[in-house]
Amino acid sequence: MGFWERVLKAVTGGKGVADPMIYWVYVRCEKCGEPLKARVDLRNELSAEFGERREDTVYTTRKVIIGSGRCHAPVEVRLTFDWRRNLLRREISGGAFLTEAEYQAEIGRQNSSGESL
Ligand SMILES: [Zn+2]
Repeated sequence: MGFWERVLKAVTGGKGVADPMIYWVYVRCEKCGEPLKARVDLRNELSAEFGERREDTVYTTRKVIIGSGRCHAPVEVRLTFDWRRNLLRREISGGAFLTEAEYQAEIGRQNSSGESL
C-alpha cells in the first residue's frame, strides 16, 4: 500500500469516499455472462501519449479481466482518457460494458437466487 493510500485510509476509515483517481470498469463476459469489475488507478496505470499542447495529451490503459467462476475467458478493455482524466473512448473484446447500476443488478440477481426484489 502506498503512502497516500494509507493516509486516505486513515482519514476515511478505509471505506466510503469515492476516489476520483480510481476509475471502475464494469463488464459482462460474453462467454458465460459473469458480471465483472476492474479497478483502474488513474495515477499509476495510464500510459501518456503526449500531444503538442498539454490539452492534446491522452492517457491510455489496457486491462484484461478474467472471471473467477464459470470460465476463464479474458475480457480485454482499452480505455482512453483526456489530459484531465475524463474518459474519451473505450473499446472491449470478449465482453460488453455494463453501467455500475447494471453490474449491481446482475450481482443482485445472482445472489438473490430466486428471491424477488
Ligand atoms: Zn466468462
